[in-house]
Amino acid sequence: MKSKGFFLLLILFASLSFVWWTVQIYSSDLNSNRAQNRIVEIEVALAKQQVRNIWLDARLQEKEDLGWIDSARRFLVEEYPKLNLEVSMEGIDILPSEELTIELDKDFSAKRRRRIFEGSLFFAVLLTSFIWIYRSLVAAIDLNRQQNSFLLAVTHELKTPVAGIKLILETLKRGLGVVDTSEIIRQGINESNRLDELVENILIATRLQDSSAIGEKNQVDLTPLAESCVIRMNDIYPNYNWRISVPEEALVSGDEIALRLVIMNLLDNARKYSKEETKIVLDISTQPKKHKYLITISDEGKGVPEREKSKIFNKFYRVDEEIRRRSKGTGLGLFIVKEVLLMHKASVWVEDNDPQGSKFCILIPQL
Ligand code: ADP
Repeated sequence: MKSKGFFLLLILFASLSFVWWTVQIYSSDLNSNRAQNRIVEIEVALAKQQVRNIWLDARLQEKEDLGWIDSARRFLVEEYPKLNLEVSMEGIDILPSEELTIELDKDFSAKRRRRIFEGSLFFAVLLTSFIWIYRSLVAAIDLNRQQNSFLLAVTHELKTPVAGIKLILETLKRGLGVVDTSEIIRQGINESNRLDELVENILIATRLQDSSAIGEKNQVDLTPLAESCVIRMNDIYPNYNWRISVPEEALVSGDEIALRLVIMNLLDNARKYSKEETKIVLDISTQPKKHKYLITISDEGKGVPEREKSKIFNKFYRVDEEIRRRSKGTGLGLFIVKEVLLMHKASVWVEDNDPQGSKFCILIPQL
């Protein structure tokens, strides 16, 4: 908050300086134009004085004709080419020539146009830089805040399965009336799997930064891959209504481990953000026109609010504090999903499911 306030003050100061600078430049241009006009006035006054001398000379030499006017004109052409001698019924006057007046006006308007152009350009650059810096600052502050909550979340996520495994091992060690150990061992395996997936998520999210997250691309059949993911989820969370609908074969080019991680993350989210007994459906269909497969994972949970739909794919992003406190998570899952899919030239987005919940859609090129 402090940095934002300081930055806004800085913007205010820079904008005021800019306005002040513009006013200064404009008034200096105005002064220079006035000075030029003043020089012309002085020249006119000098010329008048000298023309009067020519007239006086003619009078002294008792020349009564108007020949002195020609001498005055010649004098003006030589000494003051930009001044004109005007003879009218009212008398004789010396005035700046039309070209001189136009030249002075033109000079001033050209200067004004240049200032307006320079000023607007400078202001636009200043404003764009400020907006850019401000956005980066806000993004850096947000990222920092999200990283802090991520660390807290990771610590919590790591501690829970470790504590679970410890408890299970202690129970087995004491053998406290445990007749059927298979259920307790299954729980232990589930907890270690959770731990394994979390560590895998953290590792892959780190590796995504230097785009070495996915290995060599091979032919991958999405059908058995999706089936094994759903079977696995059903084993770990049998209290959900898992459904799958896939074509006989769905071949893509990709990294099988990374694609499995994508599907597991989306299935796990669907489970995490819905209630037990609700339906979670994984569907793969062909989009022959686009030569792509459409994979959808839909749930009947709380859904994603409209304003959050584009943000949830950001690194460490989790929907509001309340959810963070109630559900476990690190805000890495969808970031990994988006990045891995990008590397497969695939796109991902979220829609509302009908009648409720969310539907994550992936469009991936067919092989
Ligand atoms: P995590 O689940 O660890 O918080 P994700 O990156 O997987 O991180 O998800 C980011 C956020 O998107 C979640 O905090 C959650 O609020 C929202 N979200 C993801 N999947 C779903 C879903 N199926 N239904 C509702 N909200 C979801």
